[in-house]
Amino acid sequence: SVIIETHDISKVYRMGAETIHALKSVSIKISKGEYVAFMGPSGSGKSTLMNIIGCLDTPSGGQYILNGQDVSNMTDNELAEVRNKEIGFVFQTFNLLPRQSSLENVALPLIYAGYSKSKRTEKAQLALESVGLGNRGKHKPNELSGGQRQRVAIARALINDPSIILADEPTGNLDSKTSYEIMELFENLHSKGNTIIMVTHEEDIARYAHRIVRLRDGLIESDVMNQDIVTAS
Ligand code: ADP
Ligand code: ADP
Repeated sequence: SVIIETHDISKVYRMGAETIHALKSVSIKISKGEYVAFMGPSGSGKSTLMNIIGCLDTPSGGQYILNGQDVSNMTDNELAEVRNKEIGFVFQTFNLLPRQSSLENVALPLIYAGYSKSKRTEKAQLALESVGLGNRGKHKPNELSGGQRQRVAIARALINDPSIILADEPTGNLDSKTSYEIMELFENLHSKGNTIIMVTHEEDIARYAHRIVRLRDGLIESDVMNQDIVTAS
């Protein structure tokens, strides 16, 4: 079933007298369980498209249907609600709270979801175990390696059982061995039925995805199934 559907979405930024057409007309359908890489040169519109897909921003024109719901014209509050329910974010810079333990970082989204403390701890522990960090719950981010930090961030992204995982340059700050481990984890999540969309400018990383979408100048330049999927495991 289709989970993401955009029809001719555009995004215009105004900067004083200047108008920037970050997205001109983007139509794309992504089905539940797909593993997609977005590629393209700097300035091609990848972040803008990810921000819209992730309900951090709305398009200037066109329509965006997420999980059957038209989110194109929602208010910021409505958008935040959809976002918390549907999207798990993974960032290049991990975005963990430095003073909180791994367990507390992972449990954070559950506070907003209204779970009790004991339930939060239980769920966060299970999420840490699912990324191979069951024995690192008490460690703070600076006591972990880059790859471990990213796995904590992935556990946090998964904690509310989102429909989609959006990863913006997830391996951008990692060495190649660690990147490979993160790709192994994504492969595992994909095999369990998760929908994954990642932005990357690294061809070696995009090769793990099953579909590769290339943007250029605010348009989709190509959208192909990956004929040569590499596997990490
Ligand atoms: P990419 O992620 O592919 O590098 P972006 O989506 O960040 O591309 O940017 C696409 C275009 O839109 C670029 O010209 C960029 O400078 C511009 N842009 C992105 N965000 C903003 C913004 N908030 N305000 C003004 N211009 C923006
Ligand atoms: P990326 O490395 O993902 O392409 P960018 O450096 O293009 O990221 O953009 C980082 C953030 O800054 C994005 O959220 C984008 O929307 C915003 N941004 C990009 N270009 C501009 C711009 N010209 N003016 C204001 N904000 C921008």
